Amino acid sequence: MRNRRVKIRATMRELAVAALLICAVAFSSCTAGSGVAGVAEEGEVNTAAGGAANTSAESAAPYEEVGFAMGTVVNQTIYMRGENLSPAAITAEIIGILENVESKWLSWRVEDSDIAAINESAGTGVPARVADETAAYIEDALRIAEDSGGAFDPTIGKLSRLWDFDGGKNKIPDSAEIKRLAKDVGYAGIRLDGRSVLLEKASGIDLGAAGKGIGCDEIEAYLNEADGVKGALVNVGGSSILTYGEKGTGEPWKVAVLDPRDPSGFLGAISLDGTHHVSTSGDYERYFEIDGKRYHHILDPKTGYPADSGLMSVTVVAKDGADCDALSTACFVLGYEKALPLLAKYGAEGIFVDTDRRVFLTEGIRDRFTLIADGYDLEREEGTK
Ligand code: ADP
Ligand code: MG
Repeated sequence: MRNRRVKIRATMRELAVAALLICAVAFSSCTAGSGVAGVAEEGEVNTAAGGAANTSAESAAPYEEVGFAMGTVVNQTIYMRGENLSPAAITAEIIGILENVESKWLSWRVEDSDIAAINESAGTGVPARVADETAAYIEDALRIAEDSGGAFDPTIGKLSRLWDFDGGKNKIPDSAEIKRLAKDVGYAGIRLDGRSVLLEKASGIDLGAAGKGIGCDEIEAYLNEADGVKGALVNVGGSSILTYGEKGTGEPWKVAVLDPRDPSGFLGAISLDGTHHVSTSGDYERYFEIDGKRYHHILDPKTGYPADSGLMSVTVVAKDGADCDALSTACFVLGYEKALPLLAKYGAEGIFVDTDRRVFLTEGIRDRFTLIADGYDLEREEGTK
């Protein structure tokens, strides 16, 4: 479906309304308990109301489209350099790339995906053979699992399915069952040898915490090859965003971070020049509440229960998409203090929001982040720790 392009000039209230509009269209990512997700692009926002799109490659204005892939809304803004390729072909290609990442490599739902094949043979002693790309992304995941001391752990699959935050059961699973599955979690049980992957225990691999970032890496690789694209802003489900190249107007990219307690509004905006990846993990994305306690989808692999490190959200800015996405999950589990050395190791920046509504920034992002929401305190000094 081609979408009618509606420019919304940026008052923050209007942006919030636009985000809700997109949410209304993308009903499946906006079910009870979820927000629009962690990050939204700031600036021109289009609705998916149908009608003619801007197809002129010559136009100074960008081409914008709202689509759907990886189970979520994908907002694309493309700045073309010439007329070699139509921007509509670029956006269609990008959606195809995300669909491919999901169905061929990462999905545990799609029977013939690589991850499904690994999980099928888990605990049997017979390794699964996967695509080069899948093997490379598992290698990345293992590196971050190790560097984060297991805060990010790709063998969390069965536990994650037990909690089933997507399914809307809104029930705490049986504690004995949580304990039993948590025992099998452990990235050290993944044996990767070239393209052969063996899961020693009967756990399951879940690369969901890095999936959208992996998608953004693949998009970046494609854009590097695509002729005629000057710049692009691709927002996958709000929680992973790629800023690519430049607009050509001399202005930086603006990426807005959602307010974790009012995800229809914005906590603040990040200003970025050039190509970056931005990923957010938050306790507001998928959760339910029982007796006033929030149970959310980011699990502590050591306990099998939702991570409880005093944070509501973490946004990471990094040069690599898969790392960025996995790091945001790892940082959420680790908490602010323990996450700092991990981010430093990856040369990444972070925006942490704790449950006391304090916002902590790493040094390299202080001049690039503007707090917008009321009711939050920017802790400028403590961030220097
Ligand atoms: P989202 O996918 O909503 O953008 P994240 O990137 O934080 O958010 O990924 C959360 C998903 O990752 C969960 O739905 C679950 O499948 C998986 N997951 C949860 N906790 C962990 C963890 N500690 N390590 C690795 N994966 C996790
Ligand atoms: Mg993540």
